[in-house]
Amino acid sequence: MPPPVEQLKQLMCEVGHRIWLRGYCAGNEGNHSVRLDDGRVLCTPTNISKGFMTPDDLCVVDMDGNPAEPNPNGRRRTSEVMIHLALYKVRPDVRAVVHSHPPHAVAFCLANVPLPVGVHPEAELFLGQTVFADYATPGSLDLTDSFIGRVTDATTTILLANHGSVSMGADLLDAYHKLEILDNYCKQLILARSVGQLNVLDEQQMRDLLEAKQRWGLKDDRTP
Ligand SMILES: [Zn+2]
Repeated sequence: MPPPVEQLKQLMCEVGHRIWLRGYCAGNEGNHSVRLDDGRVLCTPTNISKGFMTPDDLCVVDMDGNPAEPNPNGRRRTSEVMIHLALYKVRPDVRAVVHSHPPHAVAFCLANVPLPVGVHPEAELFLGQTVFADYATPGSLDLTDSFIGRVTDATTTILLANHGSVSMGADLLDAYHKLEILDNYCKQLILARSVGQLNVLDEQQMRDLLEAKQRWGLKDDRTP
């Protein structure tokens, strides 16, 4: 049973505070959302630090992004909500989406370098193959169009060129943990490259890893 809406609102604020504490979003950057049981979506408002939200700051929208109820603090929904709604439409299993600007991952976005695969077991298990989307103006419908056609049932993470990341999961903590794993993985990649060349797992090692992933019920497009 998903938690009642009031508990979800508290969790949205708690996760926002963690995102801010970890430096994933500066100023008023970033947004996150949770799909509610009734088909509506709870999302962060525009123009607010994710570190200092209260439950009454959160907005409820319908699947077209229209306000579904008045906000007690007069807040308006995030301008990026269309990213979230597009993902909920193509992935019925996804119940939470986090868009963020985690610095180590954004370094790859700014350099237009897709993430390597086959170098870190945790990244393979929990992120898998990430989607790298072409640049589009933040807040525009083009931004959604830049990646939505490449999202598969196994996609957990999207990197937006010259912008930031999108993580999705079965609940808000799952999506948030994928954001943490993403930025940690990117930090490790940057450090590893300063030490030497990346050591890529061989075919047998990758086959074993993907078999383990399958046994644990985690989807991957490289698994038949
Ligand atoms: Zn952004």
